Amino acid sequence: MTKIKAEFAQGIEVRPSGIDGKGCFATAPFRKGRKIAELTGERIARVEAARRMRGRERLHICAIDTYWGIDGSRGGNGTQYVNHSCEPNSFVRIVRGHIIIFALRDISPGEEITLDYVESYHPDTKRCRCGAPKCRGTINLKLK
Ligand SMILES: [Zn+2]
Repeated sequence: MTKIKAEFAQGIEVRPSGIDGKGCFATAPFRKGRKIAELTGERIARVEAARRMRGRERLHICAIDTYWGIDGSRGGNGTQYVNHSCEPNSFVRIVRGHIIIFALRDISPGEEITLDYVESYHPDTKRCRCGAPKCRGTINLKLK
């Protein structure tokens, strides 16, 4: 079966974001601590992730562990558009090899869903434009 149109996970939609490009927005309320959606996509190894990253401005790859990652640009359900924020309203937890996004606080319909990427495949120099009062200036959290 060939998918013609991307299908979004329940309770979310993708539309232009004030943070960067497209964003993932809630269409339903999510209570604090509840699951929002699984971050789906193609499961790829680290070397493949590095290959796909080359020369790309926007990445839709999220790490599961030090070896595996999920590339949401293939088979993603809309969650690949969740933007980074230094003051996010959601967080991810790896549950038996699956990346699950949970609400960090109550989220209302219309709000953009954001995550702190902490350590993404983006270069450490990539600037953050999340606009949060406590924005740290870069997408990756530099520990040094
Ligand atoms: Zn920021």
